[in-house]
Amino acid sequence: MIIGVPKEVKVNENRVSLTPAGAGMIIAAGHQVLLEEGAGENSGFLDEDYIQEGVQILTTASDVWSKAEMILKVKEPIPSEYELIQENQLLFTYLHLAAAGNLTDHLLQKNVTSIAYETIQLPNGELPLLTPMSEVAGRMSVQVGAQFLENYYGGRGVLLGGVPGVPPADVCIIGGGVVGTNAAKIALGMGASVVIVEKSAQRMRELDDLFNGRLRTIMSNSHNILSAVKKADLLIGAVLVPGARAPRLVTEDMVKEMKKGSVIVDVAVDQGGSIETIDHSTTHSHPTYEKYGVVHYAVANMPGAVPRTSTIALTNVTMPYVMELVNQGFDHVIVGNPSLKLGVNTYKGNLTYKAVADALGKSY
Ligand code: NAD
Repeated sequence: MIIGVPKEVKVNENRVSLTPAGAGMIIAAGHQVLLEEGAGENSGFLDEDYIQEGVQILTTASDVWSKAEMILKVKEPIPSEYELIQENQLLFTYLHLAAAGNLTDHLLQKNVTSIAYETIQLPNGELPLLTPMSEVAGRMSVQVGAQFLENYYGGRGVLLGGVPGVPPADVCIIGGGVVGTNAAKIALGMGASVVIVEKSAQRMRELDDLFNGRLRTIMSNSHNILSAVKKADLLIGAVLVPGARAPRLVTEDMVKEMKKGSVIVDVAVDQGGSIETIDHSTTHSHPTYEKYGVVHYAVANMPGAVPRTSTIALTNVTMPYVMELVNQGFDHVIVGNPSLKLGVNTYKGNLTYKAVADALGKSY
């Protein structure tokens, strides 16, 4: 099979869909990889690194799209890429079609078989191609929180781990899933005092076993949230209700009660935010704003700040599916791999993912 890797063109997208190591695996299996010049540069992978693995470098995106049977990307094609999409092509990428009616129409008109990273689902309900980005964002949330707690960045001048004779900072994490657990690991590693607010009793048991008494878990209700939020130097929003907007668990009145110079990092901002005073998302170039004396951080694509780590983490989990697709072909793989089958959003001119069809008011 001929696999094409175009350079990502969406604003602030610095990841690439294939590392040189991954390209080497595909080529060793007898396939061909075409890469747009400079596609890996922002993730620290040079064209020479790919050439050493046997990749062919092409100068334009159009060359890559027109010659490849399967296009491997990170983000959904943006309007400037629509005309590059070829009839009957196989497209494997984050797609988020529910919010992209125009793109969906293009894929259907061109009989593209599109597999969305975000809808591949394991039998236990896990979304394996979203997990690594939650791991990155969770770990980053404490790193950025620690930075913005510094006086120079508007914070209250507290060192997360304290020092002998001075207590550590209080970190409150709301939601103990992938983001919350990874945030807790880093916060504990830096010596902070950590509490996780969860609504699932079962999850709290798992967290208790995992951290073996090194943090506290408390049940999610407004009474407990208020007392934890008032005490927090760093508050991290990490909740998710699958398929729904994030619940607004921390009210504006609660934020007013927070200590001056404390910091909120709302990782759940990409699902609408879990803190009432997070009313818009921010960017890596202007990541924070201040409200009621509290620093608010609300970047919706946190992994974009660490593209090298994010690229490697993402391709670690996409590669097994890529190898199955190139070695067995789409029609064969789809029969034996129900998780990958759930990733298929369009097939031969038909919408094949119900939630996308419902969101766009199309037939399924
Ligand atoms: P997850 O499903 O692994 O965990 C969510 C947790 O929230 C679960 O344990 C759930 O029980 C808990 N929860 C749900 N409702 C709650 C409530 N009312 N009170 C307390 N806890 C509650 O999800 P995740 O992978 O950890 O993702 C968390 C959020 O981070 C999502 O909104 C996700 O989209 C977002 N995210 C953002 C970025 C970014 O760059 N900003 C990157 C990755 C993920």
